[in-house]
Amino acid sequence: TSFSELGISPPILKALEEMGFEAPTEVQKRAIPHILNKEDLIVMSKTGSGKTAVFGVPMLQLTDSKALEPQGLILTPTRELAVQIDNDIKHYSKYLSHRTTAVYGQHNINIEIQALAKGASIVTGTPGRVFDHIQQGNLKTKHIGFLVLDEADRMLDMGFLDQVVKIIKTIPKDRVTLLFSATMPHEMHKICRNYMKNPVTIEI
Ligand code: AMP
Repeated sequence: TSFSELGISPPILKALEEMGFEAPTEVQKRAIPHILNKEDLIVMSKTGSGKTAVFGVPMLQLTDSKALEPQGLILTPTRELAVQIDNDIKHYSKYLSHRTTAVYGQHNINIEIQALAKGASIVTGTPGRVFDHIQQGNLKTKHIGFLVLDEADRMLDMGFLDQVVKIIKTIPKDRVTLLFSATMPHEMHKICRNYMKNPVTIEI
């Protein structure tokens, strides 16, 4: 199976090719078609399996590049991951016109406020900082149609559960929710049950 056979659009194919992504990884092959169908998904896989493209590529393909308010939100446990994911998404969208940004603890909040005010279709961030921006009205959640919980087990370990739940409650129910985790601790079943719609589970 090629990326083209998975239904990826030409501008993204071109960017992936330039990044040296010749063929989709196992998790990409199995997960991307579900996301393009707008199904909720639980992906249990290790880091390094290519999961950033699993959510990043379909989100870019299904969101409006000219949207001023966020259409996709990715929550991740650490600043390093937030920066890395945003960077990867910028590479995938080289031939698209999306504006994307990362928001995370201990980063200059004024720079983030300016970036959000200019308009960002996809935002990646750590839960505490994302929730601050939502509360302050800098990050509007009304048009978010894709929510990604990346490294969900680590977010729970780091004590972000309350904030993650508060964030989820501000996002319209009519959305796609994607959860990525290496393990499935008990509290996570509750999140899946309460905030996901008939999720498909993929284990790699
Ligand atoms: P990730 O799990 O998303 O952090 O990806 C792990 C590494 O694999 C990153 O360096 C990616 O750039 C690379 N990668 C992801 N998907 C592919 C692919 N289909 N072909 C080649 N490299 C890939």
